[in-house]
Amino acid sequence: MDLELPEELRLLGQTVRRFVTRELDPIADQVERENRIPESVLRSMRDLGLYGLVIPKEHGGLGLSALGMCVVMEELSRANLCFRIMITTNNGIGSLGLVYAGSPELQRRHLPELASGEKIGCFALTEPEAGSDAASLRTTATRDGGEYVIHGAKIWITNADIADYFTVMATVDRSLGSRGLTAFWVERDTPGLTVGRSEPKMGLHGTRVAEVLLDGCRVPASARLGEEGDGFKLAMRVLDHGRLSIAASSVGAAQRLLEAMVEHARTRVQFGRPIAENQAIAWMLADSATEIEAARGLVLAAAWKKDRGERATRHCSMAKLYCSEMAGRVADRAVQVFGGMGYMSGNIAERYYRDLRVYRLYEGTSEIQRLVISRDLLEG
Ligand SMILES: Cc1cc2nc3c(=O)[nH]c(=O)nc-3n(C[C@H](O)[C@H](O)[C@H](O)COP(=O)(O)OP(=O)(O)OC[C@H]3O[C@@H](n4cnc5c(N)ncnc54)[C@H](O)[C@@H]3O)c2cc1C
Repeated sequence: MDLELPEELRLLGQTVRRFVTRELDPIADQVERENRIPESVLRSMRDLGLYGLVIPKEHGGLGLSALGMCVVMEELSRANLCFRIMITTNNGIGSLGLVYAGSPELQRRHLPELASGEKIGCFALTEPEAGSDAASLRTTATRDGGEYVIHGAKIWITNADIADYFTVMATVDRSLGSRGLTAFWVERDTPGLTVGRSEPKMGLHGTRVAEVLLDGCRVPASARLGEEGDGFKLAMRVLDHGRLSIAASSVGAAQRLLEAMVEHARTRVQFGRPIAENQAIAWMLADSATEIEAARGLVLAAAWKKDRGERATRHCSMAKLYCSEMAGRVADRAVQVFGGMGYMSGNIAERYYRDLRVYRLYEGTSEIQRLVISRDLLEG
């Protein structure tokens, strides 16, 4: 495994870093306050091609490798996590079902508009009674001639308020458990689809989550992604990608927090000397730097495996588990190093401390990652 990034990815990382520093960092707190990313910034993100990172080139995307995606996610996470979430919901979990299993006609019609950011996709799996146990979902899809009729309710769907397309997971036969799950591409204006109001949440103010109700939505059979019963495997494949993206993002966020901690520890004077001169503070910096490097290594290893076409489920889960927990520890130390200032609104540590918390919850909680990793070990 080569630990050096290929030249083109190094340059891509530098380009995104410059964009983040120039355009995203100055408005990071504004996004938090207004719970919205300004349209002009979304346009700049579109112009840079960020909406189409992993969409294949033949459909107008950049067709980046897993490694390339990780480089961009790390950089995009240095200002406010909402910028990454906006991008990755659309051209990660919100479009990969279509990339992996959509019919050529469906792909031809929708991937270019997703890649350009003209249209937005989202991923609707979670239900009130089915979170970690996704296979127990209750949304049904009943075949009726050349169509399916979908009934059910989804909760906490990121970007549902602005999405044009929904990758909806439903079951064609509940008695089959995970083998009944089937994915559908559902357009927003489908009669029977309604999006509820956005739910208030602890952090990530800048992107929103909402309920999605499907009350007798009729979709053509051609909107099915893959075969009946392929949905669970498809969801797991999409989530492998999402977990790696979260892992890379955790590294970028932790790196940014470390830089802020170092700067504060150098300049904040108490008892007549910079607080960095206290071993208690210096060790927090040392532990954070060490854990960030270890985390980055896990991201690279998982991406490398994925790019070689190897099965990388365990490695994506290991990367997500370690990196999200590492970032939580670093954010906690950052609050400590900043002292009372780290608890005040408007401080970078305070915002990341809240925003990063969800990385241990969604796209599989830490406990579910441990389940995936241990099952893979035990089953060989
Ligand atoms: C901000 C936000 C955005 C989200 N966006 C989306 C989205 O876009 N699309 C989407 O489909 N979903 C989304 N979700 C939902 C998210 O994926 C789920 O919240 C997550 O999968 C966990 O499910 P749950 O909340 O029902 O927790 P539960 O499954 O109820 O788990 C509760 C606790 O029990 C533990 N637990 C459960 N089963 C086991 C077990 N077998 N062994 C050990 N411990 C276990 C869990 O780890 C957790 O600690 C989002 C959630 C949030 C908070």
